[in-house]
Amino acid sequence: MLIRNALHRGDRIDLRIEAGRIAERGHELDPFDGPTYDARGGELLPGLHDHHLHVQSLAASLASVRCGPPTIRDRNALAEALVAAEPIEGWIRGTGYFESVAGDLDRDEIDALRDDVPIRIQHRSGVLWFLNSKAIEALDLGGADRPGLERDARGRITGRLFRADAWLRDHLPPTPPPDLARVGRRLATYGVTSITDCTPSNAAADYERLAKAHSTGALPQRLQVMGTLGLEQTCSRLPVGAHKIMLDESALPVFDALVARIRAAHDEGRPVAFHAATRTELHFALAALESAGPVFGDRMEHASVAPPEAMEALARLRVTVVTQPNFVRERGDDYQRDVDTSDLPHLYRVKSWLDRGVPVRFGTDAPFGDPDPWAALEAAVERRTPDGQVLGEGEKVSPEEALLCFLEHDRSPTIGGLREGDPADLCLLDRPWERARTRFSQVRVVQTWVGGAPLQADDAPSDV
Ligand SMILES: [Zn+2]
Repeated sequence: MLIRNALHRGDRIDLRIEAGRIAERGHELDPFDGPTYDARGGELLPGLHDHHLHVQSLAASLASVRCGPPTIRDRNALAEALVAAEPIEGWIRGTGYFESVAGDLDRDEIDALRDDVPIRIQHRSGVLWFLNSKAIEALDLGGADRPGLERDARGRITGRLFRADAWLRDHLPPTPPPDLARVGRRLATYGVTSITDCTPSNAAADYERLAKAHSTGALPQRLQVMGTLGLEQTCSRLPVGAHKIMLDESALPVFDALVARIRAAHDEGRPVAFHAATRTELHFALAALESAGPVFGDRMEHASVAPPEAMEALARLRVTVVTQPNFVRERGDDYQRDVDTSDLPHLYRVKSWLDRGVPVRFGTDAPFGDPDPWAALEAAVERRTPDGQVLGEGEKVSPEEALLCFLEHDRSPTIGGLREGDPADLCLLDRPWERARTRFSQVRVVQTWVGGAPLQADDAPSDV
């Protein structure tokens, strides 16, 4: 295949793709009667690598309707999303509701938005479900009296159901396993050609599910799977990544046991990846890593609050930071309000890490973050909160520095990439880089290729 008429760093280029790799790069190349693709002057880039997401959870969330900020901010937007939603197994499932959208929901409120199918909407806190009348009917709640089922003064069910997840699971129609092809198509829409699944509980069965989706082409992106100790690579195209270690500062593990666990992972030939979201978790992880002795590839996920002394330790231990500037864009106002003032300057740093020579990668943490890497890139450059405030002026990076954090490790030395011999993992933008770099969130990816094969993308990326 020949990709013609592409822009790359100001240069108009053609690429010849053979056997999944870039065979030739030049100007006005001869198509030799093979198929050609006209890039129409769009910027051609290496495909993006999302270094931290959760494939199976993302698949489940793509089958749900987002009902809260930042996607949904008012009642009209919520109504549109519910009306557009396609029921799965006869139901519509909503997630992430917050009162800033349309106040305190109840059955009548949801009926007014949509009343032809059962709808259940989960509050962002996770402790409360809102049901419409069809849902109350389908669950046969009429005569039921169960804890958590709210009734008004006249005894009518309001549609609010508290702390009832286990009960709901038993009373809802069985849901099919999440469709991983949705994830493949969605990520193709963004030009993502490789991903690292960072789910700590990934075990053999999860690995098998991901391997099957990959081998059938449902999930065509290149994929690395983190997970539990002892996780074995049984598929040649699906490498096992770091051993993921969750830390929760309210229940930290015994220090010596943690050190032993790091050593056990290293003995398996695997680096470790710590979930470290708070100052305490970061310090604890670094102390354990220092004691066990770090290896190449050890990672700190999030490093959300990084005070100077932790930054020095991290740089000394040569640990890679995998962070989420998108959280500034998605939750920055909550941080301004809720985070300890002394921690605010240390939040989701990027520039400070780069200045200290610490390798930085970006991952969206989808579905807990927005899976759109272009929104994350804009956040890294502008650091704007949903209300438009700048959070962490000193942590802004250039568009080019930001993009490097979303590329694969071994293809990152320059934004150039696209060398002859590289895998043909590519994405084509709808505009030249000069216009993309000033407003990443408006960039549209026209086509994505993995190993030279074009990927099928979502038609309507905003319809979740
Ligand atoms: Zn995560």
